[in-house]
Amino acid sequence: MSEPLAPQRPLPTLDGLNGEFHRHCAAGRLMFQRCRDCGAYQHPPRMQCPACGGSVLDWVPSSGRGRVFTWTVTHQALHPAFADELPYAVVVTELEEGVRLVSGLRELAPDALALDLPVEVVLERVNDEVVLPYVRPLRET
Ligand SMILES: [Zn+2]
Repeated sequence: MSEPLAPQRPLPTLDGLNGEFHRHCAAGRLMFQRCRDCGAYQHPPRMQCPACGGSVLDWVPSSGRGRVFTWTVTHQALHPAFADELPYAVVVTELEEGVRLVSGLRELAPDALALDLPVEVVLERVNDEVVLPYVRPLRET
């Protein structure tokens, strides 16, 4: 009798605009949409600018730096694939461009999180197609 397979993590779908965001991540680039008409950034990606209604949106690189806006700490696995990581934090980061990104946390214990903590995005490869953004405390260079 063989061992049961480890549960697979749910991964983002790679179609549509969400797929475009993740293809940039897979290429090692954190990119957000910016409206060509008014310059507003937006995330998650959409077909139209929520600020002015403009429909010409360019993908532009992000600094990857921001501050912790809010977070939650999960103590019960809502999916068996995450059971080994408990407790883990899901963080909302406000990036320098003004958009907010929901991600996991790296290189910091969840109980050390603080509002406005400076963080930076790190891209972490999951498989051949998917690279996920996480945040970690900002490293001064
Ligand atoms: Zn706009």
